[in-house]
Amino acid sequence: MSEGRYPVLEINLGKLEHNLRAVLERCAAAGIGVAGVVKGFTAWPEMARVYERCGCPYIASSRMEQLRGLRAAGIQTPLMLLRIPMLSELEEVAETADLSLQSEPEVLRALNAVLERKGGKRHKVLLMVDLGDLREGFWNRQELIDLAVEVERELPFLELAGVGTNLTCFGSVKATPEKMEELLEIAAQTEAAIGRKLTYVCGGASSSLHMVLEGTMPAGVNLLRLGESVLQGGFLGCEMDFARKDVFTLKAEVVEVKDKPSYPEGELTADAFGRVRSYDDRGIRRRALAAIGLADYGSFTDILPRAAGVEVIGASSDHTVLDVEAVKDRIRVGDVLEFDIDYASMVYLTNTPSVRRKYVII
Ligand SMILES: *Cc1c(COP(=O)(O)O)cnc(C)c1O
Repeated sequence: MSEGRYPVLEINLGKLEHNLRAVLERCAAAGIGVAGVVKGFTAWPEMARVYERCGCPYIASSRMEQLRGLRAAGIQTPLMLLRIPMLSELEEVAETADLSLQSEPEVLRALNAVLERKGGKRHKVLLMVDLGDLREGFWNRQELIDLAVEVERELPFLELAGVGTNLTCFGSVKATPEKMEELLEIAAQTEAAIGRKLTYVCGGASSSLHMVLEGTMPAGVNLLRLGESVLQGGFLGCEMDFARKDVFTLKAEVVEVKDKPSYPEGELTADAFGRVRSYDDRGIRRRALAAIGLADYGSFTDILPRAAGVEVIGASSDHTVLDVEAVKDRIRVGDVLEFDIDYASMVYLTNTPSVRRKYVII
């Protein structure tokens, strides 16, 4: 395929590095290390190398195949597995991941056995506590402490590195200083039970970063796992005026420009994806079709045209419908339109061979 083919996802590695260094600096000042979470961009090695160069103590993903890809690409930074491992992938976890997040005794015992059989390499674990968001982690605190003691005393190929939590992902529960205090309390109880200090108290993801920036993060939390905030240069409820919001630029080509009614003509049923939609009748409007669609970016509300006067009004799997009435004399077939993307569409756009990637340094 030709070099000029669209769509293109352009990644500005210089802006990514700027954001990452700015966040690392602020976290370091609060005594916090940052695991660089790379699953949002499918762990593309060229981008992961920025995290390595900036000195992240861990590079993290929820998917083993991404961690394996990073090792194969020569990444030397310790690798963190974010999703509770499947029993069926423990061989791979033992071979490739240096640290994993855990919440099931059965998984830990099986992982210890795999590590022993493979020759005794040690693997670090963080035990996850659920502070109310209701995704992964122990709900019963005593169960967590009992398991910590078991790992410490009876599973010699595992190193209990600390405790961690995850907030805001399922239950939309806000990360607050009170939640962090609760985590620190559990860490202290765990330390008392095992008779030594833990290396890490891991206070969550991007939704916890606001406390670092506002100076309200309780002392003792010393690790965060950050993806979206660094990549997007912001996060809901977290002001990051020092960060670039345009690390990514999506470029798509216009394949049709015509004046058409804004209300469909005929009997209405469901759209290409089986959804019943509503349409505003705004009369005849100039409309452009771009050669990119839901199969590339997931949801049409997750791509945002950079040019004023261009509006995404819908999409099917391979087409995006744009209202360009406000800039009607300036849009032609063959034009390339630029979009900002949000985190959800980044996950899709970096996962498809239909979108060509292009790196920009400055
Ligand atoms: C994805 C993920 C993160 C990173 O979340 P962001 O909101 O992108 O910072 C952190 N921890 C876990 C367990 C995750 O799955």
